[in-house]
Amino acid sequence: MRIAIGSLLQETNTFSAKLTRREDFQIHAGNALLESARVEQTEVYGFVDVLSRKRGVQIIPLIGGWAVSSGRMLQKDFIPLVDQLLDSLRNAGPIDGVLLALHGAWAAEGIDSADGYVLEQVRRLVGADIPVIASLDLHASIGNAMASSANALVGYQTCPHVDTADTGRRAAELMASTITGAKRPTMAVRKLPLVTQAEQMISDRGVFRQLLDLARDVERRPGVLSTSLFPCQPWLDVEELGWCSVVVTDNDPMLAGRYADELAQAMWSRRQEFVISLPTVDEALEQALKIEGGPITLGEGADGTMGGSPGDSAYILEGILRKGLSHLPTAAVVVDPPAVARAIDAGVGQTITLSVGGALNPEYARLIAVTGRVKLISDGEFFYKGSCYKGRRVQMGRSAVLKINAINLLIAERPMPTTDPEMYRSHGIEPLEMKLVLCKSPLSFRMDYEPISKAVMSVDSPGCCRADLTKLPFKRIPRPMFPFDIINDVMLSRTGSLK
Ligand SMILES: [Zn+2]
Repeated sequence: MRIAIGSLLQETNTFSAKLTRREDFQIHAGNALLESARVEQTEVYGFVDVLSRKRGVQIIPLIGGWAVSSGRMLQKDFIPLVDQLLDSLRNAGPIDGVLLALHGAWAAEGIDSADGYVLEQVRRLVGADIPVIASLDLHASIGNAMASSANALVGYQTCPHVDTADTGRRAAELMASTITGAKRPTMAVRKLPLVTQAEQMISDRGVFRQLLDLARDVERRPGVLSTSLFPCQPWLDVEELGWCSVVVTDNDPMLAGRYADELAQAMWSRRQEFVISLPTVDEALEQALKIEGGPITLGEGADGTMGGSPGDSAYILEGILRKGLSHLPTAAVVVDPPAVARAIDAGVGQTITLSVGGALNPEYARLIAVTGRVKLISDGEFFYKGSCYKGRRVQMGRSAVLKINAINLLIAERPMPTTDPEMYRSHGIEPLEMKLVLCKSPLSFRMDYEPISKAVMSVDSPGCCRADLTKLPFKRIPRPMFPFDIINDVMLSRTGSLK
């Protein structure tokens, strides 16, 4: 049995003006894909971990890689990238199954569901009889093309996502039992007219944990092979946006449908609990000042780099300066290529005045003037050491640290997930010695910052990952939709699935 495996992952934020390009993807092919998957502990590593232990299974690595969250992908770059995947599949010779790791909230110019396009093309290439199974991020927005092209979709069960490899393992086990004929997966997908902010989608507590516990309970019932909840990422102005539930059973479409209905109803009934109001920048800073010691870690979720913002805003930093708090030891970060160039031109030890913010997504960003001393210049490369993406190499482009009184402002050329303290530590800034630590994340920063912080707060500010979705210019999403409209009786839409 020959199983082709590959991956293409990006989470798109359609409100970001920074479009995604081919060079934003770090793509590996063949054995290099397997090696990078092992180092980064991705879904592909999970695929390999399971399949390599199955007797008689040969793994055929295609291409794979990911790009940091950003705006829609340029179509002129998107089509050739998918063609590269399809060519590698075409050249793989006869195969018995295709396992793909996709995100599920990837969009390109003119293509609302890039993942749906990929799955459709793969299905067209391999025909109706070869099983195609995809793993997905929990923030996937599943549409018709995805549901009708894959035999099964298997989502992460944690948020922040610490089960990428495990999700790969679950998808691979499903594939292994499918190609031997031991199981015949049939999938039901139920879409909801529902989208919410991200702050409550944390899997170790509260309402979301209870919903995930219910999904695990359903998964243990007889005949069920897999259940997934997909509370999609909300900054995606696409025609098929919406939360959904997915249940895969062993050749029992009625059962899959009934359980998918049950999960979707449970998600719908708890929707109000996902809507919370956050403190403004000024309120958060006032609260932080009342707390003795530090660090107080503030999440600027509206500028979240894992949600597709370029990380080029400076609302909290502006608040700190405006309130005369620059004497507080602070770790801050902003993505601003021209500011990095200015700092490098000036050189270490020089004092410079420059504007930071708004370099990549000016419509949503805050621009401020700062004066500081260039403390450090680097190539912006480091390895994550925390619970998310452990081992993954990050390249945030050339970087500089500007010392503004007691503020350490890390300026980078390229967006990166800012959730790991190693980002600061690799640039000589120790979060534990700070009063304030700023992250550009609505949620994921809690994993590694809660254990080391006196307090952790999510802060409301403008931005293309804003928590208050009613403040964003949605145009393409289906209506009515919560929280934009009042919906009393919800009709679950049954997105198509393979017969
Ligand atoms: Zn996600």
